[in-house]
Amino acid sequence: MIAIIGASLAGDMAAATLRQEGYAGQILLIGDEPEVPYDRPPLSKEALVGDAPENRLYLRAESWYAEQGIELRLGAPVMAINPTAHTLQIGSGEPIKYEKLLITTGARARTLPGMETSPIPAYVVRTLEDARHLRAGLQPGVRVAIIGAGVIGMEVAASAATRGCQVTVVDFADRVMSRILPPDLSAYMAELHTSHGVTLLLDAGSVSLTPTGISTTKRGDLEADLIVIGIGVVPNTELATAAGLAVRDGVIVNEYCQTSDPDIYAAGDVTRYPNPFGPGDIRSENWKHAQNQAVTAARNMLGKHEAYAAVSGMWSDQYDVKLQTVGNIGTGTTTLRGEAKSRKFMLIYQNEAGVVLGALGINQAKDMRFAQGLVEKRASVDSALLADPKQDLRKLGA
Ligand SMILES: Cc1cc2nc3c(=O)[nH]c(=O)nc-3n(C[C@H](O)[C@H](O)[C@H](O)COP(=O)(O)OP(=O)(O)OC[C@H]3O[C@@H](n4cnc5c(N)ncnc54)[C@H](O)[C@@H]3O)c2cc1C
Repeated sequence: MIAIIGASLAGDMAAATLRQEGYAGQILLIGDEPEVPYDRPPLSKEALVGDAPENRLYLRAESWYAEQGIELRLGAPVMAINPTAHTLQIGSGEPIKYEKLLITTGARARTLPGMETSPIPAYVVRTLEDARHLRAGLQPGVRVAIIGAGVIGMEVAASAATRGCQVTVVDFADRVMSRILPPDLSAYMAELHTSHGVTLLLDAGSVSLTPTGISTTKRGDLEADLIVIGIGVVPNTELATAAGLAVRDGVIVNEYCQTSDPDIYAAGDVTRYPNPFGPGDIRSENWKHAQNQAVTAARNMLGKHEAYAAVSGMWSDQYDVKLQTVGNIGTGTTTLRGEAKSRKFMLIYQNEAGVVLGALGINQAKDMRFAQGLVEKRASVDSALLADPKQDLRKLGA
């Protein structure tokens, strides 16, 4: 029996892959949330502004799991793993025997002291339940203070501004999305937000909650009717640590997605894995990684010996902008493809030998797929050709 702990994107994808690869044994997919596995990216975007029914967020119809012979246990937190006995324990139940185990426990949103007792509604955005509460609060005219100008904070800012709220984003960093964007793109995204009426309070020092809103050490106090905290995530590693697995800000896996116990694998947001495109190991918190690593983990659990080597990448939707990245961005020489001030352009990053390291696209979904191909091939391309939008990226670097 293969057991999977964590019924979200990575867990779901792994279960599906096991069946696609012909595994006929028992699969147990266990989740502590009550919902059928659902997609998180819409929670800070469409789910806050659109009218689509909630079941549109589900990764699959509930009936699919039974059709595939995948036993789905929801609302069932796994309390312990015993690697020696090859068992896991759900709630206070009897130990369940596994042959191989996959940990896809993901991450949870980081919180701030005083959030639970705040007289002003204060939310993080990680679960469907969080999004339900937040959506109900985003009424026109409501003063929304968002702590954290990272991707989630800026997406919520866009959704709240679209809903007609008065939005202020506060961060100790001096630019938006500073962890993933180079400074010129931070400035571009900041301008996008201010043009929609969002106030940015950057370089604000440290931020704390007050009975009337928030307080910052460098930019004063701010009154608010609703607070959103988007200050990053913490990987859910407690089970792995208690089981004696190697953990360092993420469950450590090798390139085959195997933990320090050969019968226990891990995939998705919870892992720290060898970076296939650079030195050291990394933790990624994005959809493509969770999906791709889960596929590799499932295949390796069935005896394949495939190294996980997917190119990293993410996307974010804010207003009418789809921002995407692939590979390593912000390093090496930069080539602009398109008009920098427009709503459609690409930045391509190369090393001294002309090898394409990464790309960043604004409303360039199609070309970003081809840019990914260049990064995967480690193609060396003349930057003058990359800069010319008339050149077909598919044909470059062949
Ligand atoms: C609001 C939001 C917007 C996002 N937008 C984007 C985007 O635009 N682009 C992008 O690339 N990525 C985005 N992401 C990130 C992406 O959704 C995650 O990378 C992805 O969900 C990771 O999947 P996962 O299965 O590894 O972990 P998770 O989705 O975190 O799932 C882990 C699951 O395991 C459960 N679990 C934990 N411990 C236990 C236990 N002991 N027993 C049972 N179950 C347990 C958790 O409750 C959870 O259900 C977004 C994330 C959020 C929250």
